[in-house]
Amino acid sequence: MRIVLPEKVNSIIDCLQNHGFEAYAVGGCVRDSILGREPQDWDITTSAKPEEVKALFSYTIDTGIQHGTVTVMLDHEGFEVTTYRIDGEYEDARHPKEVTFTSQLIEDLKRRDFTINAMAYNDRDGLVDAFDGIGDLERKIIRCVGNPMERFTEDALRILRAVRFAAQLDCSIDGPTKAAITRLAPNLSKISAERIQVELVKLLISPNPDMMRDVYALGIADVVLPEFSLLMTTEQNNEYHIYTTGEHTLHSLPLVPADKVLRLTMLLHDIEKPSCKTTDENGVDHFYGHQSKGAETARKILRRLKFDNDTIQKVCALIKIHDDKPELTLKSVRKAMFRHGLEQYPNLFAVKRADAGAQSQFNYERKMAYIDEYERLYQQILEEQNCLSLKDLAITGKDLIALGIAPGKAIGEILNKMLQDVLEQPELNDREILIKRLQENEYF
Ligand code: ATP
Ligand code: MG
Repeated sequence: MRIVLPEKVNSIIDCLQNHGFEAYAVGGCVRDSILGREPQDWDITTSAKPEEVKALFSYTIDTGIQHGTVTVMLDHEGFEVTTYRIDGEYEDARHPKEVTFTSQLIEDLKRRDFTINAMAYNDRDGLVDAFDGIGDLERKIIRCVGNPMERFTEDALRILRAVRFAAQLDCSIDGPTKAAITRLAPNLSKISAERIQVELVKLLISPNPDMMRDVYALGIADVVLPEFSLLMTTEQNNEYHIYTTGEHTLHSLPLVPADKVLRLTMLLHDIEKPSCKTTDENGVDHFYGHQSKGAETARKILRRLKFDNDTIQKVCALIKIHDDKPELTLKSVRKAMFRHGLEQYPNLFAVKRADAGAQSQFNYERKMAYIDEYERLYQQILEEQNCLSLKDLAITGKDLIALGIAPGKAIGEILNKMLQDVLEQPELNDREILIKRLQENEYF
């Protein structure tokens, strides 16, 4: 097996070898190279101690020096070089109490999570694959290195990583590894929200975001996202739906592009349906108000998972308006664009299509035709460069003051009334016309 390492990676490995140390590319980059995927980053493992690595390269950063990691910088590009290590006893399912450096590559490979992530490579020795990572890649299986119960007890994050890799690489999880996940999923409660977030996002933007089904089935959701577990058991008995709220959500996920905001929006768009469910006298379920309430709950969930404010704000805005259905006229769509904010478009159309696509066939064509026409009107409004906000108005607060209106609250009120008129009739967005209407007392 030959892997083509980037020149810089080879130069780091060569340099270490020329000074009598062992060095290999290791982990995710080896796995991805074998699969023909572009590696995210290149990690190097070496028998050299951190101080020895630092002595060999002119520019290094102490990234995680106590764990043996030094970043070697070559032309503004960083490569993590980590000393072979054995992780000591683990405390509270998270952190090794101490790490010990070792001179044996095999010891370092043993501490890694899955067989497919425990391969090392350099040009001199070729592939070092002590746990049949290659075989598991071929069989498409995620399997722990060593005893899964022990490995998940050491670090519970590996439980979620197993499902994440399965989703990214189209794999299934090996029987004993899966059994251990089911037993130990509750330990995920000891893992920081930040680390969970990273894995959750990677899973969601993978080619198989609906593997959230496994996150639920293996008992992981109960710990990291109990609100989602509730979706999985909530029936929706009406002509629009064929699935539970949870299955509907799972079916909607792959229908939006692999984008963090869009996938999180689909994951959480119906999150408050369980609490908003009412059943009428005909046995038909309704979910009045689930959009606004869902947006609030999504905010709480995303805050709990330590997402950044920008992501939270975008996701919650989309959830709140995902069912909004303006009348299909230019006037109503312009008002919707003003109400929702232009930044929600065109994401909103992707969300609406995915939502409709994961519902029953009932009225399907009509729902899609509605969204198509909504989008066509939206495009037309953009092309016509209609005024959609105060800053596009042909008149400003200063103009009003110059016309003798007293500065203060009245100015804002007048401008807003003018904007409402202009949203209805774009041709009114003309300085002379607006001034004339002002003088005719239209805005008092
Ligand atoms: P990605 O492509 O998402 O970066 P990766 O496999 O490179 O995937 P990283 O989190 O970057 O994953 O970790 C690099 C390597 O470090 C892994 O391939 C694995 O060998 C090891 N590793 C990472 N996290 C753990 C962990 N929690 N337990 C054991 N080994 C781990
Ligand atoms: Mg990586």
